[in-house]
Amino acid sequence: MTKAIRIHAHGGPEVMHWEDVPTPEPGPGEALVRHAAVGLNYIDVYFRTGLYKSPLPATIGMEASGTVIAVGDGVTAVAPGDRVAYASAPIGAYATERTIAADRLVRLPGGIDFNTGAAMMLQGMTAQYLLRRTYRVQPGDTILVHAAAGGVGLILCQWAKHLGATVIGVVSTPDKADLARANGAAHVLVGYADLPAEVKRITGGAMVPVVYDSVGKDTFMASIDCLAPLGMMVSYGNSSGPVGAIDVGMLAAKGSLFLTRPSLATYTAKRADLEATCADLFKVVLDGAVTIRVNQTFPLSEAAEAHRALEARRTTGSTVLLP
Ligand code: NDP
Repeated sequence: MTKAIRIHAHGGPEVMHWEDVPTPEPGPGEALVRHAAVGLNYIDVYFRTGLYKSPLPATIGMEASGTVIAVGDGVTAVAPGDRVAYASAPIGAYATERTIAADRLVRLPGGIDFNTGAAMMLQGMTAQYLLRRTYRVQPGDTILVHAAAGGVGLILCQWAKHLGATVIGVVSTPDKADLARANGAAHVLVGYADLPAEVKRITGGAMVPVVYDSVGKDTFMASIDCLAPLGMMVSYGNSSGPVGAIDVGMLAAKGSLFLTRPSLATYTAKRADLEATCADLFKVVLDGAVTIRVNQTFPLSEAAEAHRALEARRTTGSTVLLP
């Protein structure tokens, strides 16, 4: 048997239960992975509440590291004993063991431990595509990063600074501001009152070419108002709730803006893109340009507590759940 956190209904953290489930057999093209660490991500909250849909009962979670213990027919890319990690649909990572398509697995380099591997795949690959593909940050750019002390946020701050950009971070508390500064943000704003005015002051009126906004509903319009003409609004998350309907004409009125709502799934759908994204991420981590801050760990069986902390904005950096 395997242990897993399962939900039988959508709702608050209390709907998550630690249950016995039969250990799955790897089918053709699949690998059975024994998890060493499971990544906690905001998307797990969306699957728990039902904002993102999945059939019930369900085991949530999209990211983990561990060891391959068996493979199905036709699998040659990984073998039993390999240290691997992944960040991918379908959900099912909140378990001691699971099967997953072998082409979604990447081998972990020797210099990356399991906790770091579980923490970095989803948030780190997200930072990679946001900074290198969605909007390609250039040396000298000044960029705006919301939730700068969060999981994706701390990686964005470090990586953008490494690329030669000046980061304006936005956080909710002075302690988080200190953390964002220590991780590369040159300017940190506490709260989003008067955000466009603050960005105007910091940039001398130029405003920013890109905003990375993971907060959603509460910040969307303020973020739009921080953009320079032809700027890119990257709305990549909904921590405060989903952004509602958009008036497309507003993008013209505000300066011929670009708007995108990207997802990691699209950017890593092809195996070649997954490998290239990971290779870039592993490089900055192994070089020391980016440090994955695993600032909280919880037993996997206490995933509900981890969700409470994440939703109450009590976490910083990355969090892993230990089976
Ligand atoms: P975080 O560690 O960033 O945690 C969420 C943070 O959002 C909080 O710490 C808080 O920071 C901020 N926040 C603002 N408003 C609220 C609110 N009302 N309730 C809760 N938190 C709020 O999480 P992750 O790093 O896991 O994810 C960050 C975001 O990025 C999420 O929205 C996630 O869905 C998105 N994401 C999108 C991906 C994509 O491909 N599109 C991939 C990965 C993540 P503060 O207190 O400083 O305001």
